[in-house]
Amino acid sequence: MKYPEILSNLIEDLKMLPGVGEKTAERYAFSLLEKTKEDRESFITSVKNLDKLRKCSICNYITEDEICSICSDKSRNNKILCVVEDAKTVLLFEKMGTFKGQYHVLNGLISPIDNIRPEDLNIPTLIKRVIDGGHTEVILAIKSTIEGETTSSYIKRLLKDSNVLVTRIANGIPIGAEIDYIDSMTLEMAFENRNELV
Ligand SMILES: [Zn+2]
Repeated sequence: MKYPEILSNLIEDLKMLPGVGEKTAERYAFSLLEKTKEDRESFITSVKNLDKLRKCSICNYITEDEICSICSDKSRNNKILCVVEDAKTVLLFEKMGTFKGQYHVLNGLISPIDNIRPEDLNIPTLIKRVIDGGHTEVILAIKSTIEGETTSSYIKRLLKDSNVLVTRIANGIPIGAEIDYIDSMTLEMAFENRNELV
């Protein structure tokens, strides 16, 4: 039993999404088919609008403008920088609501196995930003995997001769845990109990 080509194309496209297999993709495709034309138009517009997003020229977070809303918020502390692996983690911290400094999104972690080098990530821009910016603290909010450890010690090494305090959130976060799966209470504790990286 084969679906009309239009439907099978949609099913194939939906399978691009993480966690969406054949069955789920079929369910989504039929669900979209049953929606009104207006609902579908709105869905398509939202997807198309993603093209308007880009990376903030300072922190690499997602923005519609040259500089994101966090970097342009003058009420935030611009001397404390929280370094995260990806933009999703910024959102998680913002939901937590207690951190009022600024961020730097690395867009990945160093991984020799996958051939991801420091210069493939936003590490050179981080170092330059910290050295030029006179930050007092850099908080590494990076998970405790091998890649996370490698990335943290690399950044720490490059900032060794600067006067900035480099800390790392650690307590309460299980080894290897993805930061986005941790509940906000655990994350908040991990944040409060951050340690100086030696
Ligand atoms: Zn920004």
